[in-house]
Amino acid sequence: MNIILLGPPGAGKGTQASRLEAERGMAQLSTGDMLRAAVKAGTPTGIKAKAVMDAGELVSDDIVSGIIGERLDMADTAKGAIFDGYPRTAAQAELLDALLAERGRKLDYVIELVVDEDALVERITGRFTCANCGTGYHDKFKLPKVEGTCDVCGSHDFKRRPDDNEETVRTRMAEYRAKTAPILPLYEARGLVRRVDGMADMDEVGAQIAAILDGQ
Ligand code: ADP
Ligand code: ADP
Ligand code: ZN
Repeated sequence: MNIILLGPPGAGKGTQASRLEAERGMAQLSTGDMLRAAVKAGTPTGIKAKAVMDAGELVSDDIVSGIIGERLDMADTAKGAIFDGYPRTAAQAELLDALLAERGRKLDYVIELVVDEDALVERITGRFTCANCGTGYHDKFKLPKVEGTCDVCGSHDFKRRPDDNEETVRTRMAEYRAKTAPILPLYEARGLVRRVDGMADMDEVGAQIAAILDGQ
């Protein structure tokens, strides 16, 4: 099973991808996470991408498609791939079809997380993650059970993304509207799109996605 989670910044793609990974053994392929790892490691890709990401603009189609191709060759994607934050342009959507076809795979669903734009700034500015294991949290919607301690690994170290500020979020939302939302009709024409209510609570969104994957 190969699925795309599509939605604006803060829609809940990463949150739902992590659930699917834990519950179904599928692999989360987040170009944002991969790019941040490249920035941290100081690779040539990371050096090129950093300023673009800090500004909230899109990294080039070639760069992201290259890293997705490499990632698809790793064994953990055998049970299924969840594309999180990719594709983000029509060119990337076309490249993804080719990358999958070369490997004898195909897309099963494009799941759109439908959210109110007003909620996104609050979601993004309240987002933080465990610096050790990457588990996602929110200042208001998902605090650790014990204050200051990661539920999953017990770490006391948390971090926030430099691009999760109100100004950059506006640019990222504009990029989504201009370049990413227009790919939905392309998938719609192929009968792949399913919609879920991204404003529901996290468990309910997870249940809606599970029902789609289980063909209910
Ligand atoms: P994306 O990957 O689409 O940018 P995330 O999954 O990182 O979004 O979610 C953004 C923030 O909103 C995170 O802090 C997360 O904990 C929170 N969040 C995710 N889903 C929901 C939801 N259904 N209701 C409330 N908050 C949510
Ligand atoms: P979010 O889902 O919260 O918007 P991501 O982690 O997916 O954030 O992406 C963070 C940044 O990384 C984007 O603003 C963009 O600069 C870059 N990026 C991630 N994925 C892509 C992609 N598929 N194409 C172009 N740029 C990307
Ligand atoms: Zn942790």
